[in-house]
Order: sequence, then C-alpha cells, then structure tokens
Amino acid sequence: MRTDTAPRILFKKMKALLTAILLVATTFSAYAQSDTEHSFATAQKGEGIYSLLRRNGYTPSASLTRQFKSINGDRLAHGTELKLNVTYQLPGRIRIERHPIFGAAYQNVEIKHTTLKNHVYYLVSGHGGPDPGAQGTRAGRTLSEDEYAYDTMLRTARALIEQSATVYIIVQDNDGIRDIQFLPGDKDEKHLGNRPISLNQLTRLRDRVTIINQLYDKHQKTALLQRMIEIHIDSRISKSTQIDVNFYYASNAGYKLSNALQNTFRKQYARVQPGRDYNGKIVDRAGLYMLRETRPVSVLIELANIQHRGDQVRITRFENRQTLAEWIVRGLIADAKS
Ligand SMILES: [Zn+2]
Repeated sequence: MRTDTAPRILFKKMKALLTAILLVATTFSAYAQSDTEHSFATAQKGEGIYSLLRRNGYTPSASLTRQFKSINGDRLAHGTELKLNVTYQLPGRIRIERHPIFGAAYQNVEIKHTTLKNHVYYLVSGHGGPDPGAQGTRAGRTLSEDEYAYDTMLRTARALIEQSATVYIIVQDNDGIRDIQFLPGDKDEKHLGNRPISLNQLTRLRDRVTIINQLYDKHQKTALLQRMIEIHIDSRISKSTQIDVNFYYASNAGYKLSNALQNTFRKQYARVQPGRDYNGKIVDRAGLYMLRETRPVSVLIELANIQHRGDQVRITRFENRQTLAEWIVRGLIADAKS
C-alpha cells in the first residue's frame, strides 16, 4: 500500500483555501445584495479613490469611500491607496424612479435588476371607464372586475419596472395601488395620454389597439421583445364554477408566452400550496379582438371567477393580488429568457 501523505497535505491546504474563498465570496455577496448593477473601474496613473469615484459619475463622500474600501480592501495598497491598472468594484448605486400612478405609498420604485432592460410591456386591465366588467358580491359589497384587474395590473407594472422593463399602462386610474380588501368602483379611468374611454365597446377596444400598435412601431427597432398583457376577472354562468388562473392566446408566440406563465403558476402553487391541484388552462382565443389586433405577442390572463366565493379570496386579499403580480412577472422573465 502506498502512503501518499503529500497529496493528503495538499488536500488539506486546498480545503483551507476553498474555505477562505467561500468566506470571501459570502462577504462579497453581502454587499452585492443592494448592488445590482455591478460596475468596475480600472485605476489610472496617479488616481486616488476620490478621483476614481468622481471619474465614474459619483459624488465622493466619506461614507462612499468607506464603502469602496470595504468592497476592495484586498486590492488596495496599505488598505487605502489604489494600485495602477488594478480593477476595482464600484459601490452600488440605488436607482429610484418616481411613478405617481402607483399612488403615494408605492410611487418610488427602486430599480433592482437589469433583467428586462429594453423589454417593452403593454399592460391592459380589462374594462374600465363606463364599463365595470363582470361583477360579483361579497360581504354585501359589489366587486367590479375593472377595479381588481386594475390593482393587479398596477402591481405587475411596478414589479416589471423594478426589473428595468419599459412599461406602458394603457388603462389608467387615479387610485394608485390599494392595500385594502374591497376596492370601490368608479368610472373615471382614462386611456394612456388622458384620453377618455368610449362608451362604445368596439371603439374602446379599437382605441386601445391603436395606442398599443403605434407604440409598438416606435419601439420595434430597439426593443429586445414586446408583449401585451391583458388582465381580466370574469364571471361564469354558475357561481359554483371555480376557475384557476387561465391564459388565452391567439398566435404560436402567444401560446409560448402562455406556457411560460402557466409553468410558473404551476411551480409557485406547488411551492406555496403543496397538494393543491392547479388546473389553470391555456386556451386558443384567436377570436378575441385585443389578442388578434395588437402587434406585440399577447396574452389575456383570467385571474378568477368573480362570482365564486373561493376565487373571490384570490382577488380581494391585497396580498394575493401582489402575489399574482409577482408570479406574472416571474413568468414574463421566464418568457424573456427563453
Ligand atoms: Zn373581463
């Protein structure tokens, strides 16, 4: 039998080294959490931390320097000086965009990731203006489809913006995101650009198509991808018909998009409600005007039967509307990556 002490010592050394690397990696990711857009800069001749930061668009400050040193400590000479031609990581920049449409509590949106940069989304909540859509009752109150679809759509829009997506909200209200259970109905929704929503259904849909298609043409050259997402909460003839989140499409590409969304919903339901059967369907609805006439690849998402008592919980709990929005965005990211 051969005694190979040398390899064993080497192995021990390797193990220690690996542990050290892992420790460094963990420390690193603690900073990386708030720093989503990693950027780096290489030190030029005679440059100090202040001038390197200034050259990269920062306003240097004591706290920024401290942050810089803690990220780059191992690459600094004497813990304070830059080394020529060495590349340093720049401190994370938190980018906040203001979108008043989300309401006072939600208008400041932190851009957390660049995942959906140059991806364009047209978000349409069904009905609105003079048309409340399907209605149901719960606890003596009337539930109007347009309000719940709108709130879920806004949450979806906000989560998309966090991923750096370009988002157009086609139906607009002045209510913002509402963290309340029952959303009172109103009729003051407008189309993007403060255009009134017509009483006539066909005119209404035609206006939406025109707005979307004009923007689509404008973005066509530069967008990596364009999608139209329409959100509904319909009613069935029977109050006892429970419906899971369904996806309607009108083209092959729309089918693929629906598939990415359905897969995400299946996975998420399995994660948060193990044992629950998710039966959401993908349905060919090539006859639907909005799906047929809009140029972006499109999907119509039906969230629930507004008359079904169990389904109503899915839309009246605002936490559930938030979850639905987050799952939709997860699905859209999966779609964008495929
Ligand atoms: Zn509807």
